[in-house]
Amino acid sequence: MKRQTKLIIGLAIAIISLCISILLITDVIPTSPKKPKYIFYFIGDGLSFNHILGTEQFFAVKEGKAKVERLNFSKFDTRNFVTNYSASHPVTDSAAAGTALATGCKTANSYVGVDINGNELRNLTDVASEQGYMVGLVTNVGINHATPSSFYGHTSNRYGFPKLADDYIASPVAFISGSTIMDLKSAPADANMPLITTLELAERVRNAGILLTLDAEEAANTKGQRVALVANDKENKHVPYVIDRKGGELTLLDSSRAAISYLSNNAKDGFFLMVEGGKLDYAAHEQDAVTTFYEVREFAQAVGLALEFAKQHPRETLIVVTSDHETGGMALGWDHYEVRMERFMAQKASAIEMTKIIQKMRAEGKRNWSDYKQALSDNFGLWSLVPVSKEDEAKLKHDFYDIFMKYGPMVDGLYNKSEFLIYDAMRILNLSASIDWTSMYHTGMYTPIFANGVGEKAFLDCRDQTDIPKTIARLMGGEL
Ligand SMILES: [Zn+2]
Repeated sequence: MKRQTKLIIGLAIAIISLCISILLITDVIPTSPKKPKYIFYFIGDGLSFNHILGTEQFFAVKEGKAKVERLNFSKFDTRNFVTNYSASHPVTDSAAAGTALATGCKTANSYVGVDINGNELRNLTDVASEQGYMVGLVTNVGINHATPSSFYGHTSNRYGFPKLADDYIASPVAFISGSTIMDLKSAPADANMPLITTLELAERVRNAGILLTLDAEEAANTKGQRVALVANDKENKHVPYVIDRKGGELTLLDSSRAAISYLSNNAKDGFFLMVEGGKLDYAAHEQDAVTTFYEVREFAQAVGLALEFAKQHPRETLIVVTSDHETGGMALGWDHYEVRMERFMAQKASAIEMTKIIQKMRAEGKRNWSDYKQALSDNFGLWSLVPVSKEDEAKLKHDFYDIFMKYGPMVDGLYNKSEFLIYDAMRILNLSASIDWTSMYHTGMYTPIFANGVGEKAFLDCRDQTDIPKTIARLMGGEL
């Protein structure tokens, strides 16, 4: 009897303990995160860890700060990193990476919004629309360039810009902004494609009832009509880099501000806004560190607009910041253990702007080395802030003579071409600052992800970039 009582008491204690444990566990199991009403998805094209760190170090020196200050998004509590290889290459291009970030599916380089067999993929714009979100897309490159078009377009040729413009028109994207509607002039020659100009594509956009405007204010205040805000609706022109701005140009911040106002005024049940910092990739293709740092900082300022918005809408907003791939293979530290950002302090123009300056001098008939030497000193700080060895000066002089002897060839930075003289001057500048680059294209290194707000912890589970849009779709209440 005694044994039996003990057994019963023991059993009762065990059952009670089990019940308490279940209750406790149930209590700590997180309930699925609340659905964010406002979702910001920032994509730094080509942005990687070293671009972020370099930007932080550069501006600490530039602004005379005693301590390096982190960019706003690199201070987010939720941080992670993901792989980004494409289905066809260990190193992705912006089309396959944009597709991965928009659809959650890996595809081949040069493919936009289609899988490796060419089948059209569902994207975040589709999911957002189904779930009642109004959609906005912002970039500072063409609105039908690889990254933005991954959110509405479908083609196995990323340079099929007219087809992508038509896909945009047919999409549910309510607000779009960028430099221009790209035509085929900026694409590799393809004899099979008829040239449809930016002017003609703009006409197609207008004929579809979309307000195509150059006025950010008008775009911000429009109600009940789709809006396309561009810097240029007549030709396929880039907007200048931050470092080259003269004032009055449409910037990533203007476009982002207009998008937030428009979506706030028009969206009934929240919005999804993708913002791409597209020009930082261009600058990194040109191995132009300072120009890249200015672009990264402006990208962070755009994130700052979302943070301000989140302050007004706490517990309703999610901000995700990531990148599609790394560009340029930038290394901070080439000479022993040094990084000398102070050597960059005299750079006043991008490498592309410097190429234009040199070409103008050539057109004006300037043929003295001393003039070109002065231009390099004025705009890059060579000889004044950056020591130039005799060997390096001889190399620059050789490039200078080449300009007049054979007019080229130019160095191909994918989106722009630089004079060899500028490429070599830039290299001297980079190495003097103890910064080097390993690629004129992309590298396959891990890319960062930062998240802030409703559901941010869900991004800690991401392992590949395709997991990011899947996570966003889930938080929206849908699926990719
Ligand atoms: Zn890219």
